[in-house]
Amino acid sequence: MGERTRRMAQPIAVSKPVRGVLEIDEGLSRFSMQEMYREILSRLGENPMRDGLLATPARVEKSLAFLTKGYDEDPTQLLRGALFDVDYDEMVIVKDIEMFSLCEHHMLPFFGKVHVAYIPKGKVIGLSKIPRLVEVFARRLQVQERLTRQIADAIEDAIHPQGVGVVIEARHLCMMMRGIEKQNSSTVTSAMVGCFRQKETRGEFLSLVRQANHGSM
Ligand code: ZN
Repeated sequence: MGERTRRMAQPIAVSKPVRGVLEIDEGLSRFSMQEMYREILSRLGENPMRDGLLATPARVEKSLAFLTKGYDEDPTQLLRGALFDVDYDEMVIVKDIEMFSLCEHHMLPFFGKVHVAYIPKGKVIGLSKIPRLVEVFARRLQVQERLTRQIADAIEDAIHPQGVGVVIEARHLCMMMRGIEKQNSSTVTSAMVGCFRQKETRGEFLSLVRQANHGSM
């Protein structure tokens, strides 16, 4: 117990040598994911055969498959059928998109709101596809900065607008549960492309986002 507690108490910044995937004992592939979770449970000091845990490996496998289903989804294909020609060059903004993801460092949830805006240049994306696009990237192991960037890049690639802005405000359970982050603080990341790098456009976007949040940002 003492040994395990000490290891878990290390700060997240500590880096340890990581074995490459190819070096991992290939014998592990003989075991099913459920068998491996049973092993993890017993290494945690649990009895994987007690009633409450019997079906846990199966549940974990199923829930992880759902939470990482974005790996099987192609953002390009998602957007392909939902692009429309328009003669419109005002800012399109989709605010307060709910987002749930797993941090790739701890495989613990981070969750919050995504705000997406762009100024078209001849093409727009069907509005309902923006939350779906967020989900394609959120349902993978992520870091918040990359998630923000991937959403912006996918929109840029799909419609080559005058500019794209993406802001994510999220709370990370890996920080909150370990007391590293104050209970009510959130992490804000942004990606600004094209004309959203200009002070005026970025300012307009951020003030629209702030209105949505009643000044919480
Ligand atoms: Zn984490």
